Amino acid sequence: MQIDVFSLLPSAFPPYLELSIIKRAMENGLLTVNVHDIRAYTTDKHHVTDDAPYGGGGGMVMKPEPVFRAVEMILGAPPVCPVILMTPQGRVLDQATVQDLAKHPHIAVLCGRYEGVDERIRQHLVTDEISIGDYVLTGGELPALVLIDAVARLLPGALGDPDGALDDSHATGLLEYPHYTRPVEFRGWQVPEVLVSGNHAQIARWRRQQSLARTLGKRPDMLENAHLTQAERDLIEEMKSTMNDEEREE
Ligand code: SAM
Repeated sequence: MQIDVFSLLPSAFPPYLELSIIKRAMENGLLTVNVHDIRAYTTDKHHVTDDAPYGGGGGMVMKPEPVFRAVEMILGAPPVCPVILMTPQGRVLDQATVQDLAKHPHIAVLCGRYEGVDERIRQHLVTDEISIGDYVLTGGELPALVLIDAVARLLPGALGDPDGALDDSHATGLLEYPHYTRPVEFRGWQVPEVLVSGNHAQIARWRRQQSLARTLGKRPDMLENAHLTQAERDLIEEMKSTMNDEEREE
């Protein structure tokens, strides 16, 4: 997969891209991330990339010329791949969107700064708008890294364990079950017996139940769209009534 990033702060990327899973994915040829400095595509003497907003008000706005020039020189006109604008006004990134993006051989990501980009960029260059949550950051660089990280771990071969992402929270519509590692006892707290039993069928059943209980406790909204068997739905109803009993006891 190739990801072309357009930013006014390209130096924000290497420290993170050169670590861990993303680094390995890039070394193994699974992922190429090209970070382009928008300022390098200015044509004026002072390399100006922003200007005051028409109509007044505080802050600056990213000018259209350098952004169009950068994207079109790298990706052609019209661009050969989806151009995603990181913006708090976009649809909020979720695992389904990440899974969808990971299927594309090539995407471009545009990072805003200041008050954001000139509206004509959004209207005539960008093909998709993604937010990483309902809050406002200073620039699109961290959101772009979030998107790249989430996509990179889904690329086939990117994780050391090929099944590593299968049970991740949100991958199946549920939250993942709890994990334990050595020692088996820490400060008197024991690892659940089933996990050290060596009985793989029981472990799988326990994990699925924990996953269901955890999702019910922390994110019951997710259960509406999760793929569950009738037995699992019955189990959830049972858990709900237990929870209600406990609440009633209080
Ligand atoms: N004035 C803009 C607004 O209210 O919609 C916010 C601009 S923000 C200070 C500057 C840039 O940071 C944005 O153009 C965008 O690229 C990025 N950004 C900020 N918050 C973001 C979020 N939640 N998701 C994605 N990008 C974000």
